[in-house]
This record gives sequence, C-alpha cells and structure tokens, in this order.
Amino acid sequence: MKLDKVLKSLGLDGKALKKGDLIVRSPITGGEVARLVCDDAKGAAKKIGKAQAAFLAWRQVPAPKRGELVRLLGEELRAHKAALGELVSIEAGKITTEGLGEVQEMIDICDFAVGLSRQLYGLTIASERPGHRMAETWHPLGVVGVITAFNFPVAVWSWNTALALVAGNSVVWKPSEKTPLTALASAKIFGKAAARFAKETGTAIPDGLLEVLIGAREVGEVMVDDPRVALVSATGSTRMGREVAPRVAKRFGRSLLELGGNNAMIVCPSADLKLAERAILFSAVGTAGQRCTSLRRLIVHEEIYGKLLPRLKKLYGQVPVGNPLEGKALIGPLIDAAAFEAMQNALKQAKAEGGKVTGGERVSVAGCSGGYYVKPAIVELAKQSPVMTHETFAPILYVVKYKTLAEAIQLQNDVPQGLSSCIFTRDVREAELFTSATGSDCGIANVNIGPSGAEIGGAFGGEKETGGGRESGSDAWKAYMRRATNTINYSDQLPLAQGVKFDI
Ligand code: NAD
Repeated sequence: MKLDKVLKSLGLDGKALKKGDLIVRSPITGGEVARLVCDDAKGAAKKIGKAQAAFLAWRQVPAPKRGELVRLLGEELRAHKAALGELVSIEAGKITTEGLGEVQEMIDICDFAVGLSRQLYGLTIASERPGHRMAETWHPLGVVGVITAFNFPVAVWSWNTALALVAGNSVVWKPSEKTPLTALASAKIFGKAAARFAKETGTAIPDGLLEVLIGAREVGEVMVDDPRVALVSATGSTRMGREVAPRVAKRFGRSLLELGGNNAMIVCPSADLKLAERAILFSAVGTAGQRCTSLRRLIVHEEIYGKLLPRLKKLYGQVPVGNPLEGKALIGPLIDAAAFEAMQNALKQAKAEGGKVTGGERVSVAGCSGGYYVKPAIVELAKQSPVMTHETFAPILYVVKYKTLAEAIQLQNDVPQGLSSCIFTRDVREAELFTSATGSDCGIANVNIGPSGAEIGGAFGGEKETGGGRESGSDAWKAYMRRATNTINYSDQLPLAQGVKFDI
C-alpha cells in the first residue's frame, strides 16, 4: 500500500499523522495507518464559533458567486479523483471502482449545486387584498453540522456541503472516527478550491467556512448540543439518530437524519431474471453489504423461486473476495472485528429461527491476515422472522417466498426501516402498484433496478426509522435554508386579512 504517496498527493504529510489517541486502521489488513489528535469539547466549540463568524460573512456573497466556489471544488475533486478514491479504498475497504465512484458522486453533486446556485427559487402567491403582493424568499440558515458514517466517508459530506455552501451556510464536519483521513484530505481539496476562488474572484473566503472535528461521538455531541449549529445533518445508525434527534429538538435546532435501511426486492413471475440476478449481486454483496441501501431481503414469487435460487447460489460461489486494491476482487473486507461479530451473531440467530444458511464464513486473504473478509451469505427462511427486521451491516441476504403481490408488499413494508426498495417485473400493473400510495412505503422505490446506487439528481432518504431526511437532488436544498413569507402592501389602504374590521 503506497499510503504515504497517496496522502502526499492529497496535501497530507503521512509522517506528521502519527501522534494522538485516535488510531486509524485500514480494514484491508487491519494494520494501523495513522494516529490523530482528537478535538476536545473546548476546541470543538471554538471551531463552531469560527464557522458561525464565517456564516455571517458568507451569507452576504451572492448565491451564483457561492456556486463558483463549489464549481472550483468540483474541479479540484476531478484533479484528485484517483488519489482520493484510493484513500477511500484504504480507509473504508472499498474496491477501486467503488472508491472512484464515491469521488465521482462528489463531483456530480458539485455540478448539481452549481446550477442550483442560480435557482434558489421562491414562489409568488396571490394575495386576497388589493394592492398587495405575497412572496416567499429563501435565506441562508447558519452553521450546518454534518455527521458522517464510515461507509460513505466523503460522498455524504459533499452532498451536504455542496448544497450548504450554495445556500450561504458554513459547515462543521464530524467524520466517522473510522475514516478521518479521507476527511482531512477532502478538507485539503476544499482549501485548494477556496484559494483559487480568492485568487480568481478577488473575494476572500471567510476563515472557518469549513471546519473538521476529529474524534468519536463525544465531539459530535458538542455540535449536537450547540445552539449555534442551526442544522445537524446526521448520517449513521438508527441508534445514533435516536440519540441525536431529541437532543437537537430540545434546543429547537433542525435535524436531517439519514439512518439505517433494511432494503428489499420483490421478484415477480414475469421478471427478467438475468437483470434481477445482476441487480441482486451488486446490491447485496457490493461494498461487502455495507451500504445503507444494500439489498438485505429478497421476496421471490413461489413459481420462480426454484429457478432463481440455484442460479443465485452459483453466482455467490463465483464472486471474488479479496484485497480491494489488488486483482479482481468484487468484495473487500468488513470494516472491523465488531462488524464480523455482528454478522456471525445474525447468522446464528437466523439458524435458530429456522434459516438455511449458505456462506458467511471468514475468508483468509494473502497478506491481509488482520482484515475481516467473508463469503457473502444467503439465508433461506420460511417466513419473515425477527432477524430480518434488523439491519446487519454485512453481506447477508435473507430470502422468502410469496404467493400474491399484496402479500409481498406487506412483507416489504413490515419492518421498522423505510429507505430503499424495488420490484422486478414486466407487468406494468405490478410496477405501478408498487410505486403507488399503497405500494412500497420507502423513500426510494425502484422498478427493474436494485435498491442501491442512487443518482444524485433525486432526493435521497427514507421513512420510519431511516429518519425522514432528504439529501442530494430535487428540492433537498430547502432543508439548508430558511423560508420567509413576505407580504408587501403597495396601496394607500391597510385592509386586514379575513375581512377583520379594526377601526376606531
Ligand atoms: P454510527 O451510527 O456508528 O456512526 C455514524 C456517525 O455518528 C459517526 O461519525 C459517529 O461518531 C457519530 N455518532 C455516533 N453516536 C453519536 C452521538 N450520540 N452523537 C453524535 N454523533 C454520534 O454508524 P456507522 O457504523 O459509521 O455507519 C453505518 C450506519 O450508517 C448503518 O446503519 C447505515 O445504514 C447508516 N448509513 C445511512 C445512510 C443513509 O443515507 N441513510 C448512509 C450511510 C450510512
């Protein structure tokens, strides 16, 4: 692993990243790659103060000009795509194309946000009073606190940051303690874009426009409780969301939650099975099952079960597991020993609930003895049992049969999470029903596409225990701004609404 070289090309000195209590390991080998000094509560509060001051200056910069900073960020990300993608692989264990794909997603959201910087539209509304105009305007919100998970260590930051910046906000970022190096590298790339912006536009970037907090949940909690942080956008487990949401609500802050998923696919009798198999494989075993949108539950019509399952098991037997940076591996490691334990516990529970388990064993990979590599597992169950209602962040695919589409949709919706879902069918009635009000209850409902790998143009997020937040495309930007309703009287009368008379 050429870590020092990668870090250097991203503007970081690997030798200087060797002091501190936060030990950073690569899941590829389990070996230590850096030690970082964590922010304490006082240091974190100081950074939030700097971000608050930066917000007061940045909100005065016209939105299209703010978009220029994000355009330059996109350019710098393009220039550093290979190195940052490799660092994502080293720190999060993703295979090369997925590491690069993550950076591409950052570039895509920058492009989207640049266009958006000229489209932060409000409405005009018909007033009931003569000589009056009503309108809504959207204003910058304040400091946006971004908490991110290990499995999309940088893309989720960019989704939030590109929108927050064009919206006129500053950002304080608390990356996962498992992936702080990619965060430091992204901050360096942001710094390059900011320097170019200042040079090319003659407008200085306020100090503190982006601050990074290094550490575990304690430092995130400082941000969660600080009234200067107007919006806390938190991505991670449902457990984390349960802790964060009430704390932010207690101080009447806003939160945007992107939490765990438990995503399903329904395979109907008319499905194109070749397509379905490709989609199942990528979404269930890609990223070693460590995507919030990973496929975890497969609901197959009883007529095609006997055909699909053997084909799927054959594919599972062929998919290469190994060092994500070498050879042809399509499945890299789990993030750590705890993730492996959680997977084994889920498989034990599945067996106890009558499941027939294929795969799931630890795989030894040459030169990576400290990494936790596994064979992806298929678990056949007679019915949706309790183990299937939890998100286990590992490549486990639970499979059940169904008879009627109504039953399949009921099974799909009968879990506490509501992130992503899909149906494979060539029957237009089934497809329309699935995406209708009485179909899938998830934030994402696809037809003939797997549940993972969303494009940035759509709003991303889910219902129920997934938290209800929406990020990325569509009108997700509204979460990062505050709305004012303006009523303007250009007449010489003062009529009251609803016909109220108040004359002396
Ligand atoms: P995690 O919940 O352990 O940690 C996520 C982040 O929250 C980390 O930065 C962590 O330090 C921080 N954190 C934890 N407790 C906190 C607290 N009380 N206050 C403030 N910060 C706190 O999650 P993880 O293991 O890193 O990531 C995997 C989880 O994230 C899975 O459940 C996955 O589904 C979810 N996820 C969801 C999405 C989505 O968009 N819905 C995207 C990626 C990951």
